[in-house]
Amino acid sequence: HICNLTTCLLFCSPLAFLSPVILLDSKAQQTELEWISYPPNGWEEISGLDENYTPIRTYQVCQVMEPNQNNWLRTNWIEKGDAQRIFIELKFTLRDCNSLPGVVGSCKETFNLYYQETDSEVGRSLRETQYVKIDTIAADESFTQGDLGERKMKLNTELRIIGPLSRRGFYLAFQDVGACIALVSVKVYYKKCWSIIENLATFPDTVTGSEFSSLVEVEGICVNDAEEETDNSPKMHCSAEGEWLVPIGKCICKAGFHQKGDACEPCGRGFYKSSSQDLQCSRCPAHSFTDREGSWRCDCEDGYYRALSDPPSVACTRPPSAPQNLVYNINQTTVSLEWNPPADTGGRNDVTYRVICRRCSWEPEECVPCGPNVGYSPAQSGLVDTYVGITDLLAHANYTLEVEAVNGVSDLSRTQRLFAAVSIATGQAGRSGYSCLYIWAPSQVSDVIKEKIQQRSVQLSWQEPHHPNGVIKEYEIKYYEKDQKDKVSTVRSRSTTATVNNLKPSTSYVFQIRAFTDAGFGTYGPRVEITTKEENAATVVSSEQNPVIIIAVVAVAGTIILVFMVFGFIIGRRHCGYSKADQEGDEELYFQFKFPGTKTYIDPETYEDPNRAIHQFAKELDASCIKIERVIGAGEFGEVCSGRLKLPGKRDVAVAIKTLKVGYTEKQRRDFLCEASIMGQFDHPNVVHLEGVVTRGKPVMIVIEYMENGSLDAFLRKHDGQFTVIQLVGMLRGIAAGMRYLSEMGYVHRDLAARNILVNSNLVCKVSDFGLSRVMDDDPEAVYTTTGGKIPVRWTAPEAIQYRKFTSASDVWSYGIVMWEVMSYGERPYWDMSNQDVIKAIEEGYRLPAPWTAPWPAPAHVGLLAEGPGERPKFEQIVGVLDKMIRNPNTLKTPVGTCTRPISPLLDQNAPDFTAFRTVGEWLEAIKMERYRDNFTAAGYSSLESVARMSIDDIMRLGITLVGHQKKIMSSIQTTRAQMLHLHGTGVQV
Ligand code: AMP
Repeated sequence: HICNLTTCLLFCSPLAFLSPVILLDSKAQQTELEWISYPPNGWEEISGLDENYTPIRTYQVCQVMEPNQNNWLRTNWIEKGDAQRIFIELKFTLRDCNSLPGVVGSCKETFNLYYQETDSEVGRSLRETQYVKIDTIAADESFTQGDLGERKMKLNTELRIIGPLSRRGFYLAFQDVGACIALVSVKVYYKKCWSIIENLATFPDTVTGSEFSSLVEVEGICVNDAEEETDNSPKMHCSAEGEWLVPIGKCICKAGFHQKGDACEPCGRGFYKSSSQDLQCSRCPAHSFTDREGSWRCDCEDGYYRALSDPPSVACTRPPSAPQNLVYNINQTTVSLEWNPPADTGGRNDVTYRVICRRCSWEPEECVPCGPNVGYSPAQSGLVDTYVGITDLLAHANYTLEVEAVNGVSDLSRTQRLFAAVSIATGQAGRSGYSCLYIWAPSQVSDVIKEKIQQRSVQLSWQEPHHPNGVIKEYEIKYYEKDQKDKVSTVRSRSTTATVNNLKPSTSYVFQIRAFTDAGFGTYGPRVEITTKEENAATVVSSEQNPVIIIAVVAVAGTIILVFMVFGFIIGRRHCGYSKADQEGDEELYFQFKFPGTKTYIDPETYEDPNRAIHQFAKELDASCIKIERVIGAGEFGEVCSGRLKLPGKRDVAVAIKTLKVGYTEKQRRDFLCEASIMGQFDHPNVVHLEGVVTRGKPVMIVIEYMENGSLDAFLRKHDGQFTVIQLVGMLRGIAAGMRYLSEMGYVHRDLAARNILVNSNLVCKVSDFGLSRVMDDDPEAVYTTTGGKIPVRWTAPEAIQYRKFTSASDVWSYGIVMWEVMSYGERPYWDMSNQDVIKAIEEGYRLPAPWTAPWPAPAHVGLLAEGPGERPKFEQIVGVLDKMIRNPNTLKTPVGTCTRPISPLLDQNAPDFTAFRTVGEWLEAIKMERYRDNFTAAGYSSLESVARMSIDDIMRLGITLVGHQKKIMSSIQTTRAQMLHLHGTGVQV
């Protein structure tokens, strides 16, 4: 039973597994046992021979003649080890009392067995009381000594079990009370389940449980190179008899190993096993090998690969060969390519195609990638079908287009790429190298008919181009004398006919025609050569004049009329305006008037023709210069997108593009463009800048500088508590400066609110959302008031609500509300109060409580919201005060608690009744600050009443460090406090 596992497996008999662990075996000891015997004339150690004549040590006692015997014999200390349940096997002989001549009633035929538990040896004294009795042992068979002295030995065997024991060891004791006994052997042992391998798991030596019925559960440990089966770890149970029972779960050989007997052996060379789940090693698949033992997969041969998703059981593969028979078709700046699949797919069925486009200079070696402006249809890579369309190539450029077949292992291969390639040159396209997002230029005008050829004139007609790609606005006819190419003249026509006058007789001319749409000019059609008729002496020249002269006359006349128109307008409206010339306008000619002095805002509604207003104040942009990238919002008239604007000779800039949705009415178009007519008049770093408009193409667009952080209210809510007071005041300063500029120009905004302020990436705030009647329709906050008209009540001064008196002073009121919005990180003014209650409360003199971090000293804050418009500060003063604050940041730390003048909080029946909360916890939860519940509890603020008395310093003492959270809690406490004051009838005066 002490053989190790392998020897046991190989050499031990099955019974060895049941062998007990011997703690004491008196027979095995050859020397004296030296147990303690008391009294000295009781038990006696005697040497003898057993039935096999092997010498043994025994103890005997036979005091049968004297009554009241009490003879004790105690073993040496027996260390129990890890035993729980101890077996005691006694072998003894016992003499029959009847066979003893002359013995009286004192003769006994039993003895008693005891034990004593101790943690160590306790010396050689023997105290009966310390022993626990195990049993009285009687002989199954006693013996008689024959008359002749021959012995008929009857050996008794008795087994007793004790346990569980709690000390480290124990003694056994035998009490004789007057019998004639020979203790032939004492054997003490316990049982173990011996280490075993079952289902490729090793189970260690395990001591049996303390109870006869108990099973000890044991976890197995996988043998080398084996692992536990998923969710099925190996277990066995060790019975009280030292037998292994009920195996559960198992181990399996790891990848690269297979089972042989009770061990896992590596797969041989040329074989692999990819998973522990596989039973056997398999031969390497095609184009793979392994020259090691224990492989979980085989390596690919040179030039062959395995894709990440390929299982080890599939053959190694290689990239496909090049696509075959690549053909192309060019249509101006579009190319379509088609090809046949490659001859060799590399052994795979996941072949796709990708296109590589390079623009080349006329030197073939110098090619650069085509970049992101080129379009691929259906895609540039991952093509399943054998064709692709490439669009938006530059006109008159050289390209190399490569088509590569790729499969799952192409990216792994370092061998040379195999592709089919074509070099092409594009035709004419739009007007610039900048790709036009919306519209394609019209195709060539090719079918030109010579209608009438005269001495000095030629009449031509032609067909619309095959691909007009939009509405053709006009045609341009270019012509020159055949041998004077550099003296080119043009005429324009809105129809598909034109007469070119003032030609020389008997002269050969070359004509070419191109169409013009919103996308620009198309390609000139083929040259048409025409020779005018011979001169007829009778012809009078004067009736047909040089076209240049005609144009000059028309231009001068037009100029005079326009000068009158513009002056008439300016004088009539008594507006001192300035206008922007329409830089693109070739029909309309504008003059740029610049008047010294303050600019004044001109109401575009005063224009009879709104188109004139828009072109006076906004630059018409070419749609091909605008690239829309993504939708960022929804405006009243259509989507708001972000994109890029690239003006000729300038760097491209990020822009926001407001579009007018299709199907608009004329009024909608006018209202939409009205905003641009207003915005275009402004030029200030805190007012959103208009880049221009697109009115001549579709969709109609307003292009504005891009403000990366969107509208201020949402921005603040998103970054609640994240800015320093200085940053917030800086934002407010910007808004005030923008408003100062607008008010100086005489513009009243009417809808100043954080949602109408835009924020750029540098946190610069700019006033936006300009309009007139539109303002109120557009604003979701605007509601109809009793005085008629839609008004954003919470932001609007009382006089504007009552009798629509909108002035810069009412804008100052709105600015006061914006200040509150900013300092409270986008809190809704007057929270959940109804609009009607807001109007009522304002009329009764109530005002928003100053946000506790308000930069504005309390009285002045009230000043912004002063009832009389004349009492409110001007934007000029507001900017001055904010500038001073920014220069002296110390003044910015004034918490609301130190306000010199109490502000009556607003009371509202509909506002949440904070006193309705039963606990501080409930209240914190309602304002989403429950994370500070413990801080309040720990500091002893257990009732809402105690909370209502807290100051900002108390809040800070709680360890609430985030300014935004301090603010949120404090403003809620103010409301709570107000609620309580109200309830207790102690309102505070304004
Ligand atoms: P509006 O029609 O002006 O209210 O614009 C609708 C939404 O588009 C706004 O709330 C902004 O989120 C976004 N937006 C408008 N103009 C710009 C701009 N210039 N830059 C960035 N986002 C803008």
